Amino acid sequence: MRVYFWGTRGSLPASITAETVRAKVVRAIKEAKTHKFTNDEEIERFVDNDLPFTVRGNYGSNTPCVEIRNGKEYVICDAGTGLRDLGNYHMKRIEQGLQRKSGSVFNIFISHFHWDHIQGFPFFTPAYIPGNIVKVYSFHKNLKSYFVKQQNQPYFPVPLASMNANIEFVVLKPGKSYEISGFHVTGIKQEHPGISYGYRFRKAGKTVVYSSDAEHKTSYDSTAREENYPFLDFFKEADLLIFDAQYDWGEAVLSKDDWGHSSYVAAVELAVKAKVKHLCLFHNEPTYTDERLDVLLDDTRNYLKIYNDHKPHPMKVDLAYDGYEVNL
Ligand SMILES: [Zn+2]
Ligand SMILES: [Zn+2]
Repeated sequence: MRVYFWGTRGSLPASITAETVRAKVVRAIKEAKTHKFTNDEEIERFVDNDLPFTVRGNYGSNTPCVEIRNGKEYVICDAGTGLRDLGNYHMKRIEQGLQRKSGSVFNIFISHFHWDHIQGFPFFTPAYIPGNIVKVYSFHKNLKSYFVKQQNQPYFPVPLASMNANIEFVVLKPGKSYEISGFHVTGIKQEHPGISYGYRFRKAGKTVVYSSDAEHKTSYDSTAREENYPFLDFFKEADLLIFDAQYDWGEAVLSKDDWGHSSYVAAVELAVKAKVKHLCLFHNEPTYTDERLDVLLDDTRNYLKIYNDHKPHPMKVDLAYDGYEVNL
């Protein structure tokens, strides 16, 4: 099973500016000054191995969209702007003869309807192709109406009814479990303005939990880490936990309490207690630079070490970016 991140930025897309690209190029040239390259491969190796990620990469522009790959059908979490790139990838595969022109099935699980989680849908090319099947799942009852409204005038020129794929909207019931595209799927209600839902997917002995846009209080101001906290069971022994850690600790506690997102402190505490194997921080704050996100990742790993002193648990910790892939 593989998990591919098409969109990782929270709240709204965060494009990379010319000024930021320039600063990265300047840093890269400075770092390369003492190196002598005799061929292109050496340059590539230097970029991959010697340059920090903040110089050679970027923590993401697109809003949430994560693909879980295991089987013929697509399994997708959220329809942020990353969904557009997923659709373009699919179209490219058709051009290359790797994919049939139509007849593909896309299962899209929606956490909630804030713009950053649905705004890629009108730009999802496969949804315009007759013969494709797009199944949109949600625990929210009025699911279809939100998608219809998003594409009504004056917000968008092309109405949902003009999309030619067979688009089905499926309302799920909390507390029930489902077998979808070979995955065992369950959901959980999350603390977020307007309520969001997390999803737990299990197939072939592997578990992926997608839990974006959820506020968990830090241990300093809440009893939320009690043994019966329902998320401990929901995250239990996940091979990969994709977790909304939009804020660093200071912001989560001091200025953005009740904004509906969590910090890396809550991420580590919950993931360790639930014995998660790989924690992936997600829904990156759009105002944070790559450098600040790098610090947030370091702080998370350091906090894990401190927390592990009391409760040893080996866990991989990463911060997602557009194009990041995890093999399980
Ligand atoms: Zn969001
Ligand atoms: Zn939200």
